[in-house]
Amino acid sequence: MSARVPLVAANWKMNLLRADAEAHGRRLVEGLGELSSKLTEVVIFPSFPLLPAVAAALRGSAVAWGGQDLHPEDAGAHTGDVSGPQLADAGCAWVLAGHSERRHDHGETDGTVARKAEAAFRNGLAPMLCIGETKAERDAGETFGVLARQLGIALEPVAASGSPPSPFALAYEPVWAIGTGDTATPEIAQEAHRHVRQVLAERLGEETARATRILYGGSVKPGNAADLIAETDIDGFLVGGASLDPEEFLAIIRRCDGAAGR
Ligand code: PEP
Repeated sequence: MSARVPLVAANWKMNLLRADAEAHGRRLVEGLGELSSKLTEVVIFPSFPLLPAVAAALRGSAVAWGGQDLHPEDAGAHTGDVSGPQLADAGCAWVLAGHSERRHDHGETDGTVARKAEAAFRNGLAPMLCIGETKAERDAGETFGVLARQLGIALEPVAASGSPPSPFALAYEPVWAIGTGDTATPEIAQEAHRHVRQVLAERLGEETARATRILYGGSVKPGNAADLIAETDIDGFLVGGASLDPEEFLAIIRRCDGAAGR
């Protein structure tokens, strides 16, 4: 655990209906209120139709919400897509970009992710940029190269402009660990996070690299969160499956709060 404020995010993916989303949001606010220390920042990424229900449940609390994706352009003929201005208008503070399921299901490239990051910054949204290697890439010894390429391209526009206009976060999510129950060991995750922070320093400078939260994602559960968050370069989690149960998600937040409070 570092001096950076821990950040824990829930990726609800294409799950839950309005009533569940609202109930989850309310339970989260109540559960966070019961924590002795409140040192962890929390963000929920619901699917687009659930944003108003989540906003109603979270408004006035310290929990933020965000979109799971955005289009690189601000408006226009893009059926089925959602724009940065629309997310900002829905009260979003964050947006995911480059999740491996978007890359896989929708053929998103590193270049697309770079344009999405630019769109997020342009609209006052903090992008959470997701990167990670596949099992085949890890087995071929290509993990560090893949992470450097994904991050380098995603940050190209930001690097060209000198420095990021506002805070953002990275999520290292090894594709082989997402939704599989096969979590990276703390050592494997830390090694990747250290590398990502080095790439960040090369691209955007030491200060930005030191300040930027790098989350781990991939089958995080209450049972493995404490060991992962104890690593120097792991600053929180992007949680899929376990975030659908508010009690499990709260337990993960508690692990981070406990580590931060030490
Ligand atoms: C995710 O989809 O971002 C994720 C990490 O999922 P899970 O926690 O289910 O592996």
